[in-house]
Amino acid sequence: MSIEINHVSKYFGDFKALEQIQLSIKKGELIALLGPSGSGKTSLLRIIAGLESASEGSIFFNDQDMTDVDAVSRHVGFVFQHYALFSHMTVADNISYGLRVRSRRVRPSKKEINEKVDELLNLVKLDGLQKRYPSQLSGGQRQRVALARALAVQPEVLLLDEPFGALDAKVRKELRRWLRNLHNQFDVTSIFVTHDQEEAMDVADRIVVMNKGRIEQIGTPDEVYENPNSPFVFDFLGNVNLFKGRVQEGNLTSGTITLRTSGSPKHENKEVVGYIRPHQMELHQSHIEGAFPIKITHIQPVGPIVFIEAEKVNEGELIDIELPKNEFTPLGLKIGDTVYSRPNQVHVFSPEEFSI
Ligand code: ATP
Repeated sequence: MSIEINHVSKYFGDFKALEQIQLSIKKGELIALLGPSGSGKTSLLRIIAGLESASEGSIFFNDQDMTDVDAVSRHVGFVFQHYALFSHMTVADNISYGLRVRSRRVRPSKKEINEKVDELLNLVKLDGLQKRYPSQLSGGQRQRVALARALAVQPEVLLLDEPFGALDAKVRKELRRWLRNLHNQFDVTSIFVTHDQEEAMDVADRIVVMNKGRIEQIGTPDEVYENPNSPFVFDFLGNVNLFKGRVQEGNLTSGTITLRTSGSPKHENKEVVGYIRPHQMELHQSHIEGAFPIKITHIQPVGPIVFIEAEKVNEGELIDIELPKNEFTPLGLKIGDTVYSRPNQVHVFSPEEFSI
């Protein structure tokens, strides 16, 4: 099922929670709505589900206008952060609920329902727990039951609101992988809300970055990380080194440091901020063109990456650098050494790009 969101806005009284949201989702895509608290992620998800109405705009599933169709008739699966399981029902009854409440004409037989429950329990790796009650399960297990319940009715659209938000880091990671596999197997179109950039990067085909009720950027995890189109996206999606200064003839001068930029005319002769990701900083033992001196203050190897913190000589500010271990080790560097750093990419934003 493809989903088309056309110019959707949402007002709560005078407050504009969503402003002119325009989004096309392809059949079978796994989309993350990513943004800080209050950016409108849940409101958008609820409007897609039909649990909330849009103040303006329309929603289409395939070619069908769903804008005024109620939630039940949209046939979407929904999973909330706080496992909304029925506490007085067993796991099996929770999972089969959506099938059992169907009208008699389309309701499967008892045998078919039992088979479906077994199949889903196997899929979510909870075999044998049919008779347990939600209170007898761990948080991760409950959330897997909630997913099995949502999938039982074979929805073509699966909506998840911070599904793993209440779980610890290790379980979250496991469930993410597992959601990805499940999504592929079921061939559903899935949209999940998260404020965790790592989670969005790990799972989604495309990320929709939201801020203050608007979409800032839509792209693959790689696109939004490597080519953020605004300072907000840059900051929100990872660690960054900032260089404030002025651009002249394509060179950004920040204190005693001069960096080569892509030379966009729109930044010429302007006060700007240069954004550089830690992995875009090179390290050299001797001075080369475009490099500036730094003094190493901290070295932290983590798996295949070495995280380095260094002080800009003359400037005093700290910067972060990330290098693959096999590139860092041969340099034989230690804390206190002075070396040279050069960015291999500088993203420059001028004041008008900081409008939000
Ligand atoms: P969080 O990550 O904290 O859940 P979110 O990005 O999902 O945030 P929403 O829950 O969509 O954000 O809320 C967007 C804005 O709309 C917030 O400022 C919120 O206070 C406001 N809002 C949401 N629901 C209502 C409501 N029923 N009445 C009034 N304001 C609301």
